[in-house]
Amino acid sequence: MSNRKQECVEQAFGPVRFLPGPNRGKYPHCHSLFVEEAGVLIDPASDRERLKELRDQGKVQAVWLTHWHEDHIAHLDLFDDLPLWICEEDALPLSSKDIFCDWYALDQPGMETVRAYWMDILESQFHFKPRKPHRLLVDGETINLGNVTVDVIHAPGHTPGHTCFYFREPGVLLLGDYDLTPFGPWYGDVLSSIEQTEASVKKLRQVPARVWTACHETGLFTEQPGQVWDDYLQVIRTREDKLLNFMTEPRTMEDVIGQHIVYLKAREPKEFFEMGERAIMGKHLESLIAQGRAVKNGDYYELT
Ligand SMILES: [Zn+2]
Repeated sequence: MSNRKQECVEQAFGPVRFLPGPNRGKYPHCHSLFVEEAGVLIDPASDRERLKELRDQGKVQAVWLTHWHEDHIAHLDLFDDLPLWICEEDALPLSSKDIFCDWYALDQPGMETVRAYWMDILESQFHFKPRKPHRLLVDGETINLGNVTVDVIHAPGHTPGHTCFYFREPGVLLLGDYDLTPFGPWYGDVLSSIEQTEASVKKLRQVPARVWTACHETGLFTEQPGQVWDDYLQVIRTREDKLLNFMTEPRTMEDVIGQHIVYLKAREPKEFFEMGERAIMGKHLESLIAQGRAVKNGDYYELT
């Protein structure tokens, strides 16, 4: 696998430039793509100083987003005056911090402290400012950027409007947050879906790319990732298996969170990581119930 991983450094593939984020693009950072000449910057949450430099040189003309998450918009505030494009299904949470928090299910009872934490970090850490898109990206459309042709690929699951981009001439596919990391996929938002995540990853695998970029960690594959695709999806099955093994008796959500199935151990800040455990394992429980494999009695989940 190691020969498939490239060093996380800035490099261009024809007109498409990979801009690495700090700390290998690990959350709360991400990697960006920059389409030179056309001046399209995708997911402005990589290195803030580098993005400022591009802005100050007048090279950025528009910002596109793969999806609405905070770790992809952290430096969007530098580009307040530029057109913003995003898929319609992901546009709403960018319009207000309250809607943003609601989409993470922080309007639920008992979430008051966590919500207050998020309302604060959205501004202090992620420079959140309400934005409305100038144009909506549409699944299947082809965008001509002059020296490069872009296919817009709607890939829901991670978020309902998660969008990937295929740059035809250099054969570069931006996978967004289907990032092929060992952590595996995130599908913990109110509108995330395990089944759509699996379908989107399988669809993306079929794209005849020569270079694959993603928003976190390795971020750049110049050879077909091969087994890495399988390992990535396998994480979903492993999480489910661990949950099923734990449900030898009725369990509450708090019991399930205490197993650290997603993050593998207790981590700080709790407000963040417990929310993640709750969100992802909630989706697994929801899925088991939908399949008739589990039921919920009061606060307890049990297998049928
Ligand atoms: Zn994301």
